Amino acid sequence: MRDSTADSLHRENDARTTARRRFLVGGATALASVPLLGSARAFAQPRSIADPAQPPVPDDYLPGPDEALQWLVEGNERWVSGQLLHPHQTVARRMAVAAGQHPLATVFSCIDSRVPPEIVFDRGVGDLFVVRTAAQTNDGLIQGAVEYGAEESVTPLVVVMGHQRCGAVTLAVEALNNGTDVPAHLVDVVEALTPAYDAAKPLPGDQVDNTVRAQIRLTADQLREDPLLAPLVGEQRVRVVGAYYSLDTGCVEFMLP
Ligand SMILES: [Zn+2]
Repeated sequence: MRDSTADSLHRENDARTTARRRFLVGGATALASVPLLGSARAFAQPRSIADPAQPPVPDDYLPGPDEALQWLVEGNERWVSGQLLHPHQTVARRMAVAAGQHPLATVFSCIDSRVPPEIVFDRGVGDLFVVRTAAQTNDGLIQGAVEYGAEESVTPLVVVMGHQRCGAVTLAVEALNNGTDVPAHLVDVVEALTPAYDAAKPLPGDQVDNTVRAQIRLTADQLREDPLLAPLVGEQRVRVVGAYYSLDTGCVEFMLP
């Protein structure tokens, strides 16, 4: 354990309070480059948030979609700058969430060992549902997992995160460009990436990077149209956003609809 339980929880509560204040005053520097769609809709669950005297946020506090996004933006800023808080990584947190969880987001991302969601967003235990496949390729099981988070735990934010120089995307692009076969179930990965490949192929620039971005966009669109998620998105209870992670800088670029 890096630090005392009390210190860690105190810092986490401070961080949340600070994030909420910055969001409320509309001066969030972290969001200066993230054009949120209608920030007023951030507070789908308005309990206590308008009260400036509200004490530190309890463990079961669940933000609205835009506030959850704000927390991830700020966590990623800490990862980029090295000013990490390591929130919710204590024995006390483990015990606090043993009986129930209230994750603030579902992150559907690539299996790449260099892109661990809890680390790149500086979060901890009980904060994120994480679903990972090669190049965040989607299928019914994946979609069911994302549905579970939104429906059963009322998780307000879904992030589809791809990344720079994705190996699985590179494999698929090379196989499809050259008409070569890939072994075993990698065929399924290539097949799942074919729509993104087709969408990106006419574009100028780096074909792999364009395919990564197309895969993020298409997968986020699929989730927005999911029969269970679509009504929640329509009611602004859940927000689905794309995200592109830079291996070089550690920065997450959100791709908002
Ligand atoms: Zn990857």
